[in-house]
Amino acid sequence: MVTIINKNMAHYDYLIVGSGLYGATFAYRAKRMGKKCLVIDKRSHLGGNVYCEQIAGINVHKYGAHIFHTSNRMVWNFVNSIVEFNRYTNSPIANYKGELYNLPFNMNTFNSLWGVKTPAEAQVKIDEQRAEAVATLGGRDPQNLEEQALCLVGKDMFQKFIKEYTEKQWGRRCNELPAFIIKRLPVRFVFDNNYFNDKYQGVPIGGYNKLVEGLLDGVECKAGIDFFHSKYKDWKEYADRLVYTGAIDEYFGYCLGKLDWRTVNFKIRIENIPNYQGNAVVNFGQEIYTCPNTVVSEEYSTEYKEGMEPYYPVNDDRNNALAEAYRQLADKEDCVIFGGRLGQYKYYDMAPVIEQVLALEIL
Ligand code: FAD
Repeated sequence: MVTIINKNMAHYDYLIVGSGLYGATFAYRAKRMGKKCLVIDKRSHLGGNVYCEQIAGINVHKYGAHIFHTSNRMVWNFVNSIVEFNRYTNSPIANYKGELYNLPFNMNTFNSLWGVKTPAEAQVKIDEQRAEAVATLGGRDPQNLEEQALCLVGKDMFQKFIKEYTEKQWGRRCNELPAFIIKRLPVRFVFDNNYFNDKYQGVPIGGYNKLVEGLLDGVECKAGIDFFHSKYKDWKEYADRLVYTGAIDEYFGYCLGKLDWRTVNFKIRIENIPNYQGNAVVNFGQEIYTCPNTVVSEEYSTEYKEGMEPYYPVNDDRNNALAEAYRQLADKEDCVIFGGRLGQYKYYDMAPVIEQVLALEIL
């Protein structure tokens, strides 16, 4: 097909669909290479899932708490060249029926759980419970996630930290989920509540909008425009190349079938006391004592339905095979880059998304 370009119309080197970290980082790099870009996003704002909103004087992560973490110095230097990060350390607390435990599983957790005081005592307890689980299998391999988790960490940790959380996340019972979902359950025999093993972590001071604004500075952007329901679906009239970070199955008109997603509902409320929870799981570590309010954001994992935000790919056999088939179609598309978690149907943390874009050869 020959595309006729109207010379009066602005023509771009790149049309970028989606202003999340993939699209925004791409636009940043392309602009610095002298490329002309247009970024469009169907949401009413820019920034994708890292977008923040001011509520009661607090910077709330509208699509769920986001903590940046990486061991890649290049990625860390890159984001810090755009916005300064605080030293927030993610140390979540698990609340099991009113009992509080430190995560990830470490000596603090084991002490609260069993009263053990040394790594050797904790190891004995875990080994006992693992052996019990292995014995009940009578020599066969674990057949489902429940059996797998019991063999890895034993009944106490499974009951309190894994069972209900996993069932909520997946919307299915642990004994109906495949064993391969949990390959390892890391346990630490030190008193260390730092969730991530990465060298660097934090949250941008002033919120993620500052990061996105810095990335998109000087780039033409239009929010509230759905690629498929706008003139830009005929993108070749407007740009030489397309960067597409929307859902891969939607790009191909769902010709092979629809991919499944899990999503999250957020219920937000304001408590008129500072430091409501004692732990900044909503990412406001540096401010919890000084702000008179607390914004509590409760996340409820749920099945994705049309019109909701797709968040997590479903890694079962059907979806993995279907996504691979779409990726093969994507490989054949000329001048189109499929990027990000929707465009590749893969769960990515923020840093790997940025790392991918930094490694791209931009033509
Ligand atoms: P997105 O941010 O989703 O951007 C894609 C954009 O494309 C969206 O804005 C969307 O509106 C737009 N779009 C889609 N279709 C169209 C269309 N047809 N037309 C126009 N625009 C379109 N990562 C971490 O590192 N740390 C964390 O703590 C963390 N917490 C998370 C918590 C939750 C609840 C979730 C869901 C994710 C979390 N992540 C976290 C992952 C992080 O959100 C992703 O790595 C990041 O958002 C990926 O960026 P992206 O550009 O691929 O996708």
